[in-house]
Amino acid sequence: MIVDHLGRQFKNMRVSLTAACNYACTYCVPNGKRLLRAQNELSATELLKAVVILQKAAGIEKIRITGGEPLVTPKFDDFLLGVMNLGLEDVSLTTNGQLLCKKKDVLIKSGIKRINLSLDTLKPVKFRQISRSGDLKTVQEGIEMCLEAGIKVKINMVPLRSQNADEILAMLDYCLDRGIELRFIELMRMGHLLHGSEFHRDFYAMDSLLEQIAKKYEFTRTDAPYDSTAVRFEIPGRGDFGIIANESEPFCRSCTRLRLSSDGYLYGCLSSSNRQFIGDLLDLPSHLVYPKLQKILVSALHDKKLAFQGETTVMKFIGG
Ligand code: SAM
Repeated sequence: MIVDHLGRQFKNMRVSLTAACNYACTYCVPNGKRLLRAQNELSATELLKAVVILQKAAGIEKIRITGGEPLVTPKFDDFLLGVMNLGLEDVSLTTNGQLLCKKKDVLIKSGIKRINLSLDTLKPVKFRQISRSGDLKTVQEGIEMCLEAGIKVKINMVPLRSQNADEILAMLDYCLDRGIELRFIELMRMGHLLHGSEFHRDFYAMDSLLEQIAKKYEFTRTDAPYDSTAVRFEIPGRGDFGIIANESEPFCRSCTRLRLSSDGYLYGCLSSSNRQFIGDLLDLPSHLVYPKLQKILVSALHDKKLAFQGETTVMKFIGG
């Protein structure tokens, strides 16, 4: 097992199926241009091969399917059905939810139990302003479909001071009413936000969030698993919510995440653009592939930081 001086090892892997996305969210895409697939993206079969060898080489136990937007690529069905059969401890999906209803059959057939859905607002006009595409009602139908099918839903909201910070309580109530855990993601200095004023204009810190929520609810902080990204809170008798506090309370010291991009690169840390190509290893015999992977994984683990620093890497490539 590959472990660093802080005891960190890779256990969770985020697999980006494609860099293409049907949204162009203002904080993710600077120019509003529709995101296209990367050149030379791996097929579903190749991505599945990568998961299998990393399960063995790195001890990956949990997979999160992400993107871009994972539901826009035709390889989604094959990858989902394949990855559910690999004996992993957990498989989950991160999606903007726009195509959830269209994917109902394969989602149910796969037996997936958990979906994280990104939703920043409950106002239709604001929705179009932030995501620059899509339709709020369709996303909400997707949420109801999942709940009816017994698929657990968590909603991720990025609070932005100039855009949706006035909806923190409304979003929380929407989620609590449906037994959904809402997770607020502090804005991260990724891509075009690393430099310039936009990050400082829109960053909404954990303290401010808690202040807003305290206007309506009493809550207590609860224990979260060792490598959880979220700080978790309980509103007695009502439900839970979480905050992914990259800036206010970074979780880097216990991070177990590894990321695989759709074009076959491994990233050890969101705060580092260092990456290692593994697309050319997938068909090598075991005695050649594992020693090479061992070196790559040591290097990827070495890239992990002690605190979140931001990066020019854009989330669309590595899926957040
Ligand atoms: N398309 C999928 C979705 O919408 O969930 C998966 C990819 S998206 C890049 C994953 C998550 O990253 C979304 O919840 C999005 O809001 C979040 N995200 C993107 N850029 C971000 C940033 N600069 N700071 C915080 N979260 C960000």
